[in-house]
Amino acid sequence: MLRIALVPGDGIGTEVVPEARRVLEAAAATYGIEVEVEEWDLGAERYLREGVTITEDEFTRLSANDALLMGAFGDPRVPGEEHVRDILLGLRFRLDLYVNFRPCVLLAPELSPLKRVKVPVRLEIFRENTEGMYVGMGGVFRKGTPQEVAIEEDLNSRAGVERIIRAAFEFAEARGRGRVTLVDKANAMRNAGGLWRRVFAEVGEGYPEIEQSAVYVDAMAMDLVRRPEQYEVLVTSNLFGDIISDLAAELTGGLGLAPSANIHPGRHAMFEPVHGSAPDIAGQGRANPIGAVRCVALLLDHFGHQEAAERVEQAVAAAIAEGKTTRDLGGGFSTSEVGAWLAEHVSRSGAGAT
Ligand code: ATP
Repeated sequence: MLRIALVPGDGIGTEVVPEARRVLEAAAATYGIEVEVEEWDLGAERYLREGVTITEDEFTRLSANDALLMGAFGDPRVPGEEHVRDILLGLRFRLDLYVNFRPCVLLAPELSPLKRVKVPVRLEIFRENTEGMYVGMGGVFRKGTPQEVAIEEDLNSRAGVERIIRAAFEFAEARGRGRVTLVDKANAMRNAGGLWRRVFAEVGEGYPEIEQSAVYVDAMAMDLVRRPEQYEVLVTSNLFGDIISDLAAELTGGLGLAPSANIHPGRHAMFEPVHGSAPDIAGQGRANPIGAVRCVALLLDHFGHQEAAERVEQAVAAAIAEGKTTRDLGGGFSTSEVGAWLAEHVSRSGAGAT
């Protein structure tokens, strides 16, 4: 039995998560996967209503699930984003979800803004998710004066670097990927870069059949635009991962299509579409649910249900090929029409599966 908590959150999160649920339940029924789904009312509405973001008890009960499927967080009525900090970032840091996995897969050349792109493009990014520039170390001195100084420390622990690099190699080996590339800026940031390169070489020794290289992040930005098809698994720090995964997502179809996973292998897994709450289109039934639906594929895959996961991905590919999409992809479907179509496709094409 897989226990899954759904947290739709804010804005279009509340529209795309029900569609992801529909597809999850269709896949579970088709493939005989036992799931228990519970929906949680956490987000800006609850915070505004009760003045509470998430209680300790809720945090404990939420994290006791096998997996979490989140929608999006962020609401103009909560400019301080207290609930985002406590719920989303709270889970990421307190559950030590050190792997941010962002697969960017181009399903059709016309989805890419690149003119001469060749399919397949399959960029699988392993972003370190708990260290780097995001730990809040540093400070501001002489604030508000012309002599103000701001320092943001870039924290890289050997253990932290090693575990994300190992996760990338483990994935590449398990999935038969031929190449793992480290993305860094070791020519300018010699201390951190030196550590990443040494650990990459050491861990890489255990995977001699996988081609290994290190590329500076600036060169990677150019290469991703010039010839993204030459890369497979990328592993990098929190900051560089944040940037290049947005670039890679945009090159492979944009925000509406991109899923992500935040994982502590063997302990916790949280899935969320890459897009935010998009208040500009919220409540209009226009949000593309595919990013959230692809989270379902990642979730199923994570728990060893590869066939069901592939079926969800195939349904997504079919929806795109047949134009059964929301208007951001040029289609005329609403959010729930896309969800219903995908769920139906999963049930239909998986009929007879066990
Ligand atoms: P955040 O900072 O919370 O990640 P953001 O402001 O960077 O959010 P999003 O909320 O993700 O960005 O969205 C940016 C724009 O992209 C939205 O205003 C919306 O128009 C479009 N967009 C995002 N997600 C979707 C989606 N699923 N379907 C259609 N359009 C989307």
